[in-house]
Amino acid sequence: MKRKDRLREWFSKDSFFQALKTAVADFTRRRREVYLDNNATTPILPTVAARMNEVLTRNYGNPSSLYRQALEASAVLEDARRTVAGAMHADIEEIIFTSCATEANNTVLKGLADHFYPEKKRILALPVEHPSVIQTLHYLAGKGLDVVWIPVDRFGNADLAQLEALIDDQTFLIVTMYANNEIGTIQDLTRICEIAQKHGVLVFSDCVQALGKVPLDFASCRVDYASFSAHKIHGPKGIGALYVRKGRPIPIFMHGGHQERGFRAGTESIHNIAGFAQACRHITDSLKKAEQVQTLKRGLADALQAAKPDLQINTPANSLPNTLNLTFPDVYNAELIAALDYYGIAAAAGSACSTPDNKPSHVLSAIGLSDTQARQTIRLSLSEHTSKADIDYATWVFREFFSGSFGSTTALWPGQLNQSMLDDPDLFILDIRFWYDRLLFSSISGSYESSLLTFKNHLDRIPADKNILVICQGGFYSPMVAFFLRSKGYQRVSYLASGLHAWKTANPDLFARACGENIHNLDAEGESGVI
Ligand code: PLP
Repeated sequence: MKRKDRLREWFSKDSFFQALKTAVADFTRRRREVYLDNNATTPILPTVAARMNEVLTRNYGNPSSLYRQALEASAVLEDARRTVAGAMHADIEEIIFTSCATEANNTVLKGLADHFYPEKKRILALPVEHPSVIQTLHYLAGKGLDVVWIPVDRFGNADLAQLEALIDDQTFLIVTMYANNEIGTIQDLTRICEIAQKHGVLVFSDCVQALGKVPLDFASCRVDYASFSAHKIHGPKGIGALYVRKGRPIPIFMHGGHQERGFRAGTESIHNIAGFAQACRHITDSLKKAEQVQTLKRGLADALQAAKPDLQINTPANSLPNTLNLTFPDVYNAELIAALDYYGIAAAAGSACSTPDNKPSHVLSAIGLSDTQARQTIRLSLSEHTSKADIDYATWVFREFFSGSFGSTTALWPGQLNQSMLDDPDLFILDIRFWYDRLLFSSISGSYESSLLTFKNHLDRIPADKNILVICQGGFYSPMVAFFLRSKGYQRVSYLASGLHAWKTANPDLFARACGENIHNLDAEGESGVI
């Protein structure tokens, strides 16, 4: 055979191209980390970190004390309050700092319930609210309040006619988030406030996702209460704010001090508050870049649609510029997220707050997606720091995933893992649940336990010639580990889709028979690893 022909034959070999593709992928992966989960949290800006550091070291005084350091800390606090108020065209006395938006949401809902109940007992709310609102409302319903869910369309938009019809003389509050964290839908807050005013009802809006992404002007939009969180706008975690319009009842959640004018006791977290304010100083710039973010988002949606024409877009036109929620028929979201993570891309399945358990997102259920569709759904959320190169890279990874070129691991659904599989001597179960999950119930007998964070230290104990079954509690971490093991050359790797919790629920008798004995702890030292 001529040299030319030999070369042609060699190049045409699948294995060559596979190896080349993997090499390119690995090389590119090392070069690019693409963070597409900005609705979960955002990286802190260097200017914010610098300001916080400055305040931490210089302004350590307690603002309640009576000397120079205290007054300086007090000045930082009030300067920050003015800046945060300015971000929504509010007055300085309308801002109360809280430890997070979850606290602000609890404060408003429980405080107003205390204020109005039992004279009035009806609250109207969107079924697509954040869990910190939904779960607080469930708690209040348990106390006797009448929580009524406002009908929404397939994008989560409130039906305003039905909303108005639901208002009765018992109604004291309408709860409507401004922008949805999972699908990005923006509600017509101004119109909802007009309806509420007409009927003498208050409006509370969770504005966590709206701040920094859409302009907020509470001078013109007559919302009564609103909540905010710094870590969604490149600020620090652990600090939020509650807006209370002048003249409205102010609910007290934390008793025990005169801080925040007595409405929220506890020594102020001055460095966090200063960091929040510093992040707010960047909002004008972020808003200017909204169009650029939206263009990137549309480009990504178009490219993904071309790669997988049957995908369903769950984000409406009137949405946050950065948010894209997509359902990929026949694709298990946990597996897609695992592949994306392996290639350096951070994405979310459903709401970040509900990822450890395996319940389909209540938002996706509320907009009419089945449980199966919810498990085929992911959320991508960009930021003003996302570049065209990031989107091109992400598109390439998606395309490779859909074309099947990353290889695949096998999903075992709860009904599939049966007694005969468990009896197979070639089965090696790697249980990567966290210690707190293991406190809830034991591993399958004969399992090898190691945490998600430490299993890579034990690759020499994970046999390459066995059938590896990776197990986690809720089904989101095991595909990541399975994907990793595949990349390390393990050929027969599967994972328990939906997790051990779902398997236990589906097979209670089998669980009772097959769990709890001869479990090996790979993380324990020495030979005493059997527990
Ligand atoms: N509300 C919405 C819409 C959110 O997206 C989040 C965070 O995910 C929260 C509230 C809770 O914010 P925090 O983390 O400050 O408690």
